[in-house]
Amino acid sequence: MIIVAATQNKHKIVELTAILSPFGMELITQADAGLGDVDICEDGATFEENSLKKAREILALCGQASIAEDSGLEVDAIGGAPGVYSARFAGMTGGVSAGAIANEADETNIGKLLRLMEEVPDEKRTARFVSVVTLAFPDGRIFSARGECEGMIGRECAGNNGFGYDPIFTPLGYAKTFAQLTAEGKNAISHRAKALAKLKQMLTDAAY
Ligand code: IMP
Repeated sequence: MIIVAATQNKHKIVELTAILSPFGMELITQADAGLGDVDICEDGATFEENSLKKAREILALCGQASIAEDSGLEVDAIGGAPGVYSARFAGMTGGVSAGAIANEADETNIGKLLRLMEEVPDEKRTARFVSVVTLAFPDGRIFSARGECEGMIGRECAGNNGFGYDPIFTPLGYAKTFAQLTAEGKNAISHRAKALAKLKQMLTDAAY
């Protein structure tokens, strides 16, 4: 089955491809589907709303099955922020590409978060990554699944792998940040992997 990725975030595409390919699903980019640069306004109040909006818009544009993912980091000590604003927490547009601008946005987002949390004691630095994956089919069927990964926010960056807030997020039960894990290690426990596993189960149950 060919599915168009309703994201231009290269890191997400790499992770989605790695997770979907064992299930016989081939992920193609928007460019491969003949779409140009599509800028979808992520103005929803929830990950669910944004994910659904992205999947529906790409399906409407190219007529092919589309998979969207909306994700972010919820930090308890600051009321669940940055949440749906994770990519642009410090005001820059980040996470869209693997380029210098995305990296700079990631760094300023992390900097802002660490400054806000300077006074927060270790035991109160709880957080979770959330991912909502939505698969929209041309026949109108829509499948949506949420995955979460609990962890703690560190006081400084550690590790060079991954993207976004990975260098400051240590998943529960681990002594390494997401950025210190290998891609396989992260994919085995990540919010995105959990959402996709649920989605796969939903597809199996629906005999898709
Ligand atoms: P969006 O889903 O494109 O709105 O962006 C989600 C943002 O959440 C990313 O730009 C990152 O800042 C953050 N994020 C989501 N998933 C991850 C992850 O696996 N690691 C690190 N940061 C993430």
